[in-house]
Amino acid sequence: MAALCPRSLDRARLPSYRAAIMTSFDPTSLLTARTQSADEGAIIRMAQKSRDLRAKGQDVVSLTVGEPDFDTPLNIQEAATKAMREGFTHYSPVAGIPELRAALSKKLKDENGLDYSPAEICLTNGAKQAIANAVLSLIDHGDEVIMLAPFWVSYEITVRFAGGTPVILHASVDEDYKVPAKRIAAAVTPRTKLLILNSPSNPTGAVWNRAELEEIAAIVKAHPRMMVLSDEIYEYIMFGGKMVSIGSLPGMKERTITVNGFSKGFAMTGWRLGYTAAIEPITRAMMRMQGTITTGANQFVQRAALEALAGPRDDVEHMRQRYQQRRDMVLKGLRAIPGVKIGDIPATFYAFPDVSALLGKKAGNHVMDTTDRLCDWLVEEHGVATVPGTAFGAPNSIRLSFAASEADLEKALTRIAAALGSLQ
Ligand code: PLP
Repeated sequence: MAALCPRSLDRARLPSYRAAIMTSFDPTSLLTARTQSADEGAIIRMAQKSRDLRAKGQDVVSLTVGEPDFDTPLNIQEAATKAMREGFTHYSPVAGIPELRAALSKKLKDENGLDYSPAEICLTNGAKQAIANAVLSLIDHGDEVIMLAPFWVSYEITVRFAGGTPVILHASVDEDYKVPAKRIAAAVTPRTKLLILNSPSNPTGAVWNRAELEEIAAIVKAHPRMMVLSDEIYEYIMFGGKMVSIGSLPGMKERTITVNGFSKGFAMTGWRLGYTAAIEPITRAMMRMQGTITTGANQFVQRAALEALAGPRDDVEHMRQRYQQRRDMVLKGLRAIPGVKIGDIPATFYAFPDVSALLGKKAGNHVMDTTDRLCDWLVEEHGVATVPGTAFGAPNSIRLSFAASEADLEKALTRIAAALGSLQ
């Protein structure tokens, strides 16, 4: 404190000087601009709102969170316990244990036609960190990143974090929520560095087919300094057909950072394990980001992941089938509601109906002029929590997660139909 006190200050006045410093000091004024870009987000806000209403005794069905309602398969749990007992409780190498990098190299080749060596794979603390590693490695101030809305909001936040400029392109429900290649081509500038692709997509469930990916690949390859971040985390939750990895297309390996993880397909959200696959110099840069922020992913979780990859996939298939039944149920329920527009949902556990025909309608004196207002009203007055499309760069839609029990879905659909049907 003495060092802070100006020489000329009268010693007798020191206590009041101290008091002045204490009262005028606002720690929040020290926060970086970066923290402003990391909004808590509508998903968390709506999930919290349903918890608060439940705490007050209201019956609320929450279709907000994007995580499997199933527990992690037992064989994976047991592999983790065994690994702990065997002493795999120490730091992992930053890029992950060699056995898992090798197993993933094989998985990517066998299942996705991707040709990455173990040295080109880096295990991360969830796919979210994989995305952050990639964006922080590639994006500097002023670099443009093309994002295809509707998109998972974390992409935009992470790009802003890195100082990049999101270039957001929109696709409507009539376009199956997939931005046509010519609109992507028109958005490319000399400053474009990255395009973020998420197939299958959160929040729409859209899946890009080979021909569509070839068109995107051609745009990327025509640019001297542009790459793709391909987030394939929902690959095991598909209802027909197989997804194509853009990195497997000719000439695209060097142009792609493939992101994937164990959270969704294996119901391992809380375990925090994801990975990137990219050519070695890019992988080494991403390892430096991760080494700085968190170090390697949990060792016994990586051992359990070996079992997830090599062990039986019956549970993964069982969960997939259950999501498919629920998808059918949700589609049938939503399609019966006037003013709700929805196409097919070929993958994931999300429905993203367009409700623009209902915006501007009234419930009593309340005008539903935005999906934020509509979602607030649905949860407060009708006990169903959903997420407004503003959270995904698509304000005309709302997201419902059907990673929820059939009984809850039934209840939610009945409530949504009654609520939306009452709007005037
Ligand atoms: N990518 C997408 C599209 C997601 O929806 C999510 C989670 O909701 C993630 C990545 C993050 O996955 P993880 O839990 O492995 O960090």
